[in-house]
Amino acid sequence: MFELRIETDNAAFDEGNGRQEVARILRELAEKVMIQDGGTINDANGNRAGLWAYDPPASCDECGEDADDGEGWDGLCGTCADALENREVDDRREQP
Ligand SMILES: [Zn+2]
Repeated sequence: MFELRIETDNAAFDEGNGRQEVARILRELAEKVMIQDGGTINDANGNRAGLWAYDPPASCDECGEDADDGEGWDGLCGTCADALENREVDDRREQP
């Protein structure tokens, strides 16, 4: 999920500058989102005006497919987790 909140109460958004200031923040954010996972938003006057956060979708360590990172997440998608479990079972069978 990507979340963004910009409060427009500060003076930087007054006197018809609101849209321009939001646009300026979005342009800056377009660069930041490529290299950061989140942070605060400062308006043109340097005052705090919001927050943003990017939580990238989880991907399987094994195959790289998008995966459900719910409870008990071990870094593997269901298919790879099952395959690994079967391999371990096979390994145990091969023991004398
Ligand atoms: Zn996988």
